[in-house]
Amino acid sequence: MLKVFRGPAKAPALAVESDGRRVVIDIRDITKMYTMGEVEVHALRGVDLRIYEGEFLSIMGPSGSGKSTLMNILGALDQPTSGEYYLDGVDVSRLSETQLAQVRNKKIGFVFQNFNLLKRTTALRQVELPLMYSGAGARTRRAREALESVGLGKRLDHLPSELSGGQQQRVAIARALVNEPAMILADEPTGNLDSRSGTEVMQIFQTLNREQGITTVFVTHDPWIARHTQRVIMLRDGKVVADRKVQRPLVAGEVERPSDAEELESVFQETYYGGNEEEYN
Ligand code: ADP
Ligand code: MG
Repeated sequence: MLKVFRGPAKAPALAVESDGRRVVIDIRDITKMYTMGEVEVHALRGVDLRIYEGEFLSIMGPSGSGKSTLMNILGALDQPTSGEYYLDGVDVSRLSETQLAQVRNKKIGFVFQNFNLLKRTTALRQVELPLMYSGAGARTRRAREALESVGLGKRLDHLPSELSGGQQQRVAIARALVNEPAMILADEPTGNLDSRSGTEVMQIFQTLNREQGITTVFVTHDPWIARHTQRVIMLRDGKVVADRKVQRPLVAGEVERPSDAEELESVFQETYYGGNEEEYN
């Protein structure tokens, strides 16, 4: 089972809903305003969002809708202009830069579109790095186990150039996992992969979520990817305009990808006209 990092002793316990779901992320009326000279850009205009332990969800929305801004705030890379953000019981909106860096290292595992691996570093060393920053022990064993959990137990000494795109992304997933974060944040994690490698990476995320209960948040443009997650949040103009449960999430590799037009149409139907679908909140 997933071991959840509890934060400082003074931190309040995780909030629990009446149905027993534990709140990992609790965002209350978050706004983000960028000032460019005399122009104010309201990137987020009051976002409320709760993400529960073990959820696997995607954040979608047109370009400019605020996805990256929300992702940066979720990932403690940036602070909101107003509002509150509790991550795993800790009020992130009041932390200093140094404390934010600690939160990032201990509570969040990042996976990027471009993998962000070090060129001249073996898979094993890449995965050991977060453990070095957090001062953890048994680094080699834990890094090896993380790589084994993504099916790379036989590639420990390989450099990124000796691995396929899908394998490189799996190294990045192992690196994101190794500190046992409260949540994995992935920004278009299959965006640079061919569809076979994309499926392979999707299978890893689904397995980790199903077997270890790892809370996973995807930012994606791709409705096909979103259909593999359990819940879809749609942003538009800095607001959440839809928050839907995916009725029957696809299992990666089981169904062949339909044409883009068919795919968009079905997501649109589910998201905006999902008559008998259960709505969140
Ligand atoms: P998305 O990721 O959905 O495309 P963003 O979060 O990147 O959207 O942007 C939301 C809005 O905020 C856009 O209007 C964008 O131009 C603006 N924006 C984003 N980052 C900055 C910034 N650093 N300075 C000024 N405006 C920004
Ligand atoms: Mg963006």
